[in-house]
Order: sequence, then structure tokens, then C-alpha cells
Amino acid sequence: MASIKRSTPTKEIILSGGTFNSPQLLQLSGIGPGPLLQELGIAVRHELAGVGENLRDHYPVRMAARVKNASTINELSRGLQLAWEIIKYCVTRKGILTLQPTLVACFWKSDESLEFGDLQMTFTPASYAEGVQSELEQYPGMTIAVWQQRPESSGYVRAKSPDPRHKPAIQPNYLADEIDQRVLLGGMKLGRRLFRTDALAPYFEEETSPGADCQSDEQLLTYARERGTTAFHPMGTCRMGPSTDPSAVVDAELKVHGLEGLRVADASIMPTMPSANTNASTLMIGEKASDLIRGRTALPAVELG
Ligand SMILES: Cc1cc2nc3c(=O)[nH]c(=O)nc-3n(C[C@H](O)[C@H](O)[C@H](O)COP(=O)(O)OP(=O)(O)OC[C@H]3O[C@@H](n4cnc5c(N)ncnc54)[C@H](O)[C@@H]3O)c2cc1C
Repeated sequence: MASIKRSTPTKEIILSGGTFNSPQLLQLSGIGPGPLLQELGIAVRHELAGVGENLRDHYPVRMAARVKNASTINELSRGLQLAWEIIKYCVTRKGILTLQPTLVACFWKSDESLEFGDLQMTFTPASYAEGVQSELEQYPGMTIAVWQQRPESSGYVRAKSPDPRHKPAIQPNYLADEIDQRVLLGGMKLGRRLFRTDALAPYFEEETSPGADCQSDEQLLTYARERGTTAFHPMGTCRMGPSTDPSAVVDAELKVHGLEGLRVADASIMPTMPSANTNASTLMIGEKASDLIRGRTALPAVELG
């Protein structure tokens, strides 16, 4: 069994373990919800109810169709066709080896009357068995994925053992909130309409998933619950907020409320989900953290509009 190393900081600790590991490490250090720590037999050093709560993630659901009159990544990435693609890449630097799978992305609305977008959608000239991102289908296919930009549903990350080598419980509670269900349904219906547009008509043969048998809202939601996956955008488990907010973990300078010399700087501090994917926001958090740690003054606020 690997030994656990200890070090004693002289200035400040910056915790950047990510949305799952940062709250787990705080909890194992006795910083977190009192009842959880007591249940695990961890001495409560600083009670902070929000540590590990407010977990949110984007939840894409994929709809796929069989394609006619065009080649797709499905068949071009197999056997002799793949060999040809490799040669093409070596000679011309062109072909499917130069592609990333998601070639089109858009932001749109689940309801046309909305002022701002609440959906993100992507298009891929490939399709996956059962609509789950893993194995490509044998026949030509295309996929439209859709997810809600700012989910209301939230879950948690809770240590299951005082041993840091044990994984924590991770429960995102996807689609628990009725608003999230409504927005995703709007997006799935829009995706199905896009498959059937005039522009795609020459290539659309039939919808393979969820398929013609899936029509009612209840059926669509069942499909979404069964086939949806993480977008790998978890955030929020050490959320930023004022000390008056009992769910807040860090303040506006990323310092853990009520403690000296401890900051968190990663996606876990986001109070709520940004409308886009999380990498750029996380980079910004890191940049801002470095300015705060070095004591640099903030740039003047930019007037919008
Ligand atoms: C497969 C995948 C695809 C993604 N695609 C996109 C995308 O296309 N666009 C986009 O915007 N975002 C994307 N993301 C999301 C983006 O990568 C994350 O939002 C971002 O990396 C979060 O940064 P972070 O610093 O919070 O956590 P992380 O990047 O997870 O960094 C945490 C680091 O801490 C280390 N660590 C954890 N615990 C310990 C410990 N106990 N001791 C030492 N080290 C530890 C980990 O090894 C890791 O290096 C994707 C994520 C994944 C996983």
C-alpha cells in the first residue's frame, strides 16, 4: 500500500484538485458538512455545509440517423477505407484523420419566445451504437447532441470513507428539476426537426435513435435518462458566495470562509453553470487566482453595451 506523504506549508495552500477531488480533500481534512463528517468518524475542524454540494454538469443526449448519399466517419474509420485515409493523411494532410468528431456547434433556444439561448447543440458526421459515445455504428450515420446550458438540478460529492484512496459518492441528479426536463425536451424535439430539414433531406434515411417508436414526452425523457451522459463539465462543489450564504465555500478572493491560508482555485468554485463549456471559465479562474495570490490589482471593469 502506498504511503501518504505529509508536508507543512509556510504561506498558503491552493487547492486545485477539480470538482470531485477538492471537496473530497476538504471533507477528509475535517472541513465540510458536520453530519457527513461525523458519520465518517472525521473530526470536524471547520463546519461548512456547502463543501461537496451544488454539483452541476451538462447532460448531453444524442439522437442519431442513418445516412444515405454521403460518406461518414463510421465507415471511413474501418478496414481498407481507414488504410486509404491514413495514406491520404500522410500524402495530403487531409481526410478524416484531420477531423475532430464534432464539426458543428450551435447555441439555441428550447422555446422561440425566450430572449436568450438555453441550449447547446452539436452535429457529428458519425453515429454511436445505442446513441452512447463509445462504439461507432457499422453503417453511415450522423448524430445531433443537445444539452441544456444552465441546469437547475444539482447534486453532491460526498466522501464515503476517511481513506483518501477511496472514491467519493458522486451524484449529479441529472434532470431532477422539472425546468431541466422541459428545456431538454425542447432541444430533443428541435434536433429531430433539424434531421428532417430540406438541407439534410438528401442524406437523411431514417432516425435510428431514439427512433420512430419514441414519440411522447414521457418516452423522450425515458430515452434521455437512459442514454444521456456526462459532458465532463462538473462544477460548483466549493461554490463562491458571500459569508452570509450558508451554501458558500469560498469568498470573492477564493479564500475558504472562516479559515486562514486556504484557497480553492478550480471549476468547483463556480457558483452556477456558465452557458458554455467549462474549460475557458476554469482557465480564467486560474488566471484570476494567480493575480489574487500575487496581490495584483484587478483590471478596471469594462462597461458593456
Ligand atoms: C474528456 C473531457 C473532455 C472535455 N472537453 C471539454 C471541451 O471540449 N471544452 C471545454 O470547455 N471543457 C471540456 N472539458 C472540461 C474541462 O476539461 C474542465 O472543466 C476543466 O479541466 C476543469 O479544470 P479543473 O482545474 O477544475 O479540474 P481538472 O482539470 O480535473 O484538474 C484537477 C487536477 O488535480 C489533480 N488532482 C486531483 N486530486 C489530486 C490529489 N489528491 N493530489 C494531487 N493531484 C490531484 C488531477 O490529477 C488534475 O490534474 C472536458 C473534460 C473532460 C474530462
